[in-house]
Amino acid sequence: MLPAYARVDLAFERGEGVWLIATNGDRYLDFASGVAVNALGHSHPQVVKAITEQAKRVIHVSNLYRIPEGERLADRLCALSFADKVFFANSGAEAMEGVIKLVRKFQSADGHPERYRIVTFEGSFHGRTLATLAAAKNKKHLDGFGPVMDGFDQVPLGDVEALKRAITPETAGILIEPVQGEGGVRSAPPQFFRALRQICDDRGLLLAFDEVQTGIGRLGEMFGYQKLGVTPDVMALAKGLGAGFPIGAVLVTEEAAKGMTPGTHGSTFGGNPLACAVGNAVLDVVTKPGFLDHVRRIEILFKQRLAEMKDRHPSVIAEVRGEGLLIGLKSQVPNTELIDAFRAEKLLAVGAGDNVARLVPPLIVSEAEVAEAIARVDRACTAVERAQQGARGQGAAG
Ligand SMILES: *Cc1c(COP(=O)(O)O)cnc(C)c1O
Repeated sequence: MLPAYARVDLAFERGEGVWLIATNGDRYLDFASGVAVNALGHSHPQVVKAITEQAKRVIHVSNLYRIPEGERLADRLCALSFADKVFFANSGAEAMEGVIKLVRKFQSADGHPERYRIVTFEGSFHGRTLATLAAAKNKKHLDGFGPVMDGFDQVPLGDVEALKRAITPETAGILIEPVQGEGGVRSAPPQFFRALRQICDDRGLLLAFDEVQTGIGRLGEMFGYQKLGVTPDVMALAKGLGAGFPIGAVLVTEEAAKGMTPGTHGSTFGGNPLACAVGNAVLDVVTKPGFLDHVRRIEILFKQRLAEMKDRHPSVIAEVRGEGLLIGLKSQVPNTELIDAFRAEKLLAVGAGDNVARLVPPLIVSEAEVAEAIARVDRACTAVERAQQGARGQGAAG
């Protein structure tokens, strides 16, 4: 395989809920969730049933025809959100490409073809296509890939004055994640998001949210914007929406969608019957009364217990941050070392920017599983401390 990933030498043959079983039989507590994707854990019976039943009927027909499973999923997503229209894609980056194109097209259709630039924020992540890389402006991700696509102006997260300075007569919209996931579980205060909404309203700009990671219950509300109390004009979803099956979506108001007429955008696979059947199964579970209450209850418990871990292991954990079940541990040691120590205790976590270890368990995680994860975090931090003491001892001896 193309060595584009630094893979861990570990493979899994099976999953059950919050657990992944390795090919050698070892059981791992999965607080990585395939990078915040497996919202319902592994082998969720309703997801398995949706896939098998839909696969027997029809998997793919193309967007040349009506797709009832997609129409149903779109109707439900609109009923749950601010949106009036939905476009389906296959991934987060593709959904974000759709958002970027839609923002530009809206301005063009609104009589402002000169408005094509989008203001983005430092530390953001929007995917690995050329446009989404240009939006996030992460030098590491752009290096060697030729001229960076024009049309994005970046400002520090939370800096309203810098944002106002960045807006020009060519600005079309503002793009932000409710909580930066890949960037290190960083966020701005709600008043910053309210300021963005106000600026967009005053100047005729679109406010776009990248909810690829925060959407579908991850923050304890169905969508992150509901927690902020600030409504965007357009947003992207992906990760949790398919709970492991690839699907992305652009959700948008009627007004903001007005440029997107037949022929303006498309996808061969996007929104096929199988993907949409899975999306519907995910919504069946996540919209059940009490589901999001469970997420919020677990959030409080998990954060309390992690705060205890920070107090017990101050030379390992610098800070506990995040919302819902998108939680970051700012590490005192390189985050890769902390994640390796977790894995040695058979607890899976994911790295993020700003030297953070991300803990993003399936939303169905139980209190007992959180307690088990905390025991493993405790042992892993103790192991890191021992290694620190060993290194200091050696330093003194040498
Ligand atoms: C993961 C992610 C993406 C990219 O999704 P892919 O499915 O990997 O293309 C975009 N934006 C955010 C906020 C993400 O977390």
